[in-house]
Amino acid sequence: MQNFIYHNPTKVVFGKGSIGKLASQLPKGKVMLLYGGGSIKNNGIYDQVTEQLKGLDWCEFSGIEPNPEFSTLMQAVEKIKTENVDYLLPVGGGSVIDGTKFIAAAAHFNGDPWDILAGGAAVESALPIGCILTLPATGTETNAAAVVNRKELGKKLSFISDHVRPQFAVLDPEVTYSLPERQLANGIVDAYVHVMEQYLTYPVNATVQDRFAEGLLQNLIDLGPKVLQSSDYDVRANLMWNATQALSGLIGVGVPQDWSTHMIGHELTALHNLDHAVTLAIVLPRLMHHQKEQKRQKLLQYAERVWNLSTYDEDSAIELAIEKTELFFQQMGVKTRLKEHGIDDDVADNVAKNLTNNGYLALGERQDITPEHAREIVMASM
Ligand code: NAP
Ligand code: FE
Repeated sequence: MQNFIYHNPTKVVFGKGSIGKLASQLPKGKVMLLYGGGSIKNNGIYDQVTEQLKGLDWCEFSGIEPNPEFSTLMQAVEKIKTENVDYLLPVGGGSVIDGTKFIAAAAHFNGDPWDILAGGAAVESALPIGCILTLPATGTETNAAAVVNRKELGKKLSFISDHVRPQFAVLDPEVTYSLPERQLANGIVDAYVHVMEQYLTYPVNATVQDRFAEGLLQNLIDLGPKVLQSSDYDVRANLMWNATQALSGLIGVGVPQDWSTHMIGHELTALHNLDHAVTLAIVLPRLMHHQKEQKRQKLLQYAERVWNLSTYDEDSAIELAIEKTELFFQQMGVKTRLKEHGIDDDVADNVAKNLTNNGYLALGERQDITPEHAREIVMASM
């Protein structure tokens, strides 16, 4: 196992009715409630939250879109400055929470905040954040990462800073009842791929992390069909906790991490506006193929422990495990081929070009996946 420092200070307030505990988590000062396109107004979450804000000084900012747009987020930064906001309260999925993380950093940044994403500028401080999650998927609610889109430049870029990790995360599984099937399925796929990015690398004898990861994967395989078929509370509760743990940092300490599926996926979203999870379902199976030799040992472990394929010879077990992974995404109703989205072959060259322009010349746990390899992977995903 590799050395690590593990520190995840986000307080998780989990369970039925937990939005009712929001007031006790909020500090003194002016709060800004941030949300997306209005789903929280239709499902009653907005009313539950504003009930908790009674008696406090607060304002709101709405309209943070899926794949949060830089220009929208900069409008929030302006409003924060004119309204003297002290604390940010995003209520939504990964887009609203990620967008708020960027807003929190940009509000304290001296210079052009785009440099946080494009120039790797250090985030020295940020406004504090406490969040309410409405979509189990990204893990952003307890992690330090955020992804922001800038349509006019065709770029989707990320940054990581402990300053933007939420101080608390309210996780009420009942908020998932209003989610459309597409978003539930996206969430399952995103969480699955988060685990794979931290698990399917090269072995470092981190048996605790391996067993955590395998447990999370098997749990998602088991829960996936149930989530799409019913609104059983415990199924939703376990999905929510699984998605949080898939990217809370716990399974990623002491192990090499890949993230090339995400990096290639971000380019597909930037170019063709595909849902984040849809891009992952397209890229991961082909990336597993492409990296079959480099990832051989872990692929065999994955085949044996996650898919119970120990009776097959090695090559068949690996092929079958890749096939089962793709079938699982399809079973969730997520298409795994670019052609199914009406996208043509040019996309492969464009992904390679954009990775190069963004400086992503060496991806993966061994830093050996080049833009040319990404082109091959995308081509194989047609
Ligand atoms: P999302 O983009 O936040 O939300 C997708 C849609 O679901 C929105 O239209 C949203 O509506 C709706 N929605 C959310 N909660 C709902 C509910 N309870 N009921 C009904 N509709 C609801 O989806 P996401 O998958 O959570 O986030 C994706 C983003 O996160 C991508 O930009 C991705 O790159 C990023 N990401 C971040 C990390 C990280 O570690 N930070 C990891 C992976 C992915 P509203 O607009 O009304 O809210
Ligand atoms: Fe993701």
